[in-house]
Amino acid sequence: MVPDHPFPPANKRLGQHFLIDPNIIRKIVTAAAVTPDDTVLEIGPGRGALTAALSKAARRVVAVEIDPLLHRLLQDRQTEWPNVELICADALKYPTDGFPTGTAVVANLPYYASTPLLFRLLEQRTRWSRMVLMLQEEVVDRLIAGPGRPDYGVLSVMAQHVAEMTKEFYVSPHCFRPKPDVGSAVVSVRPKTLPDRSVEEESRFGALVRGAFAHRRKTLVNSLRDEAYDQKSVTAALDALGISVTARAENLSVAQFVSLEARLSGSPS
Ligand code: SAM
Repeated sequence: MVPDHPFPPANKRLGQHFLIDPNIIRKIVTAAAVTPDDTVLEIGPGRGALTAALSKAARRVVAVEIDPLLHRLLQDRQTEWPNVELICADALKYPTDGFPTGTAVVANLPYYASTPLLFRLLEQRTRWSRMVLMLQEEVVDRLIAGPGRPDYGVLSVMAQHVAEMTKEFYVSPHCFRPKPDVGSAVVSVRPKTLPDRSVEEESRFGALVRGAFAHRRKTLVNSLRDEAYDQKSVTAALDALGISVTARAENLSVAQFVSLEARLSGSPS
């Protein structure tokens, strides 16, 4: 077990659940396949359990921690970690343009901010070669869910549209101090190479997916009608794509959402 002193008590408001199981730490670094050539961004180094392992495996680690108290305590270990740059900042705002293309992201994310952090990382996806992230298991299951599954929804489509998502392994609450109330899982995220899309195209796609799932129990045509989409255009687009007009959002694959959006915006793919 990793010792959990002389650190201050965990700040639950900041999602501080610290890994204490060295086996899980090893498995995360292995899943990320970190090599001595890698630059790694770690979000939320906390007490440094993962940081220490990343420091041994990578060429350079940039560790962004929001809590000034933890940041100061980590700085005391700087001599052990000459290749770690400790930054005290909010990772939701920290500028990432300075990171080389191909940087790996490895993090045990604070649960209160895991979705916004993940989506910010996905927006910046051309910078990252891969991300290995610990999240609430329930969120990971939604990220990897396919059509027809009850947990398939906006999160699944938006994430799988831009990245390959793989659930690596489950992590029990017993592997943390303090113990979280829910189970966790590690997910690997591999950004896809996609044609360049404008901000408007991205936001049209997001609006369509959110509109489609806004009324899950209705057909896609009716759900989109309720979200102010033209019913005739949606019906015609579904018809042209060979998708049943009685389909619900949960029946469409990510590729079908992409084709539907292209049809509706007049640029069939
Ligand atoms: N990496 C450590 C580990 O595995 O033991 C700590 C993980 S803990 C789940 C999440 C960490 O993220 C905490 O240290 C917390 O203070 C930090 N944190 C919370 N919100 C943050 C933010 N917006 N930006 C950067 N760090 C944040």
